[in-house]
Amino acid sequence: MTELQYIEVKSKLTINKKVVITTHRSPDGDAIGSSLGLYHVLKSKGLDVSVVVPNAYPDFLKWMPSEDVVVDFEKNRAAAESLIYAAELLFCLDYNAIHRTGDVKGSIEAFKGVSIMIDHHPQPDDYATYLLSDTSASSTAQLVYEFVSSLGWEDSIDDVVGQCLYAGIVTDTGSFRFPSTSARTHRVVALLMDKGLQPHLIHQAIYNSNTENRLKLLGYCLSQKMTVLPEFKTAFIVLSDEELKLYKYQSGDTEGVVNYALSITGIRFAAIIKENEENIRMSFRSIGEFSVNQFARENFNGGGHTNAAGGMSEATLEDTVAKFQALLPKYKAELNAK
Ligand code: 5GP
Ligand code: MN
Repeated sequence: MTELQYIEVKSKLTINKKVVITTHRSPDGDAIGSSLGLYHVLKSKGLDVSVVVPNAYPDFLKWMPSEDVVVDFEKNRAAAESLIYAAELLFCLDYNAIHRTGDVKGSIEAFKGVSIMIDHHPQPDDYATYLLSDTSASSTAQLVYEFVSSLGWEDSIDDVVGQCLYAGIVTDTGSFRFPSTSARTHRVVALLMDKGLQPHLIHQAIYNSNTENRLKLLGYCLSQKMTVLPEFKTAFIVLSDEELKLYKYQSGDTEGVVNYALSITGIRFAAIIKENEENIRMSFRSIGEFSVNQFARENFNGGGHTNAAGGMSEATLEDTVAKFQALLPKYKAELNAK
């Protein structure tokens, strides 16, 4: 966004303006953290703010301040639709294409007001009035900090905003491990700490909140369900709907499991392939130059970042796994490069 655009946007963010913040389907820490962080900033400036998410999000994010204001489109469709319909301004956080919002897509496409997209995914669609897109940013939460700062509103960033934004940054950077973590990321965190943020409390809330079932499912994935293919520097985990039900799966329970597969020495490409009642969802991760964004786009109707992406399949679990394995020889050279 240009300086002039920030001035324009600021002139629209006035008291009592009806604003709805939206994010992508299956919201993660960055989706919820950036949305609630921005929610608190705009609230403190007197705007009439709501947050709409397409569907449920994990329990380990439910400690966030004002988490209870979030409207789940799947559960409260009428309420969510009327909020978006009545909104004057719409924020689109942490998604680069409207279809990533699932069933909220129709309401967003029908929206006639001013929209502001803040996102860090590659290849953003050109649908918003204002676009703050930076693929080098660690997280949308970091971009929300920069957005607020560019508006000259750093005074509205307090400990509560910091808790939400830090949750987004820490989850999207894998606790500052991924290459997207920059000096700027750490500077933003330092500024949040100046405002009262206590990082250890956020780590405690996010990472020390496992259920017994979640940990047992992790053990099962690693000991029984992981295939390692050194020839392709690939490791993948497959879970059927039945297996997930056996471990009383809740949204978020397999978050991060794919990273264990990726952590094996020599492995550069990891996947988790998960069946649910409607389709198959896949998470892809890589180390180095092998682009899982491209892999997901080319083969599984998905996308994401170079080293973290997702996709889906309408085929059976067996057929999806067979397709995944059959694709590997095509990428063998790339997977074995460097
Ligand atoms: P995850 O595997 O954690 O669900 O997603 C990893 C990254 O890929 C996230 O940045 C997410 O936004 C993106 N992503 C996941 N699924 C899809 C998809 O179906 N399409 C696109 N374009 N991006 C996705
Ligand atoms: Mn993100």
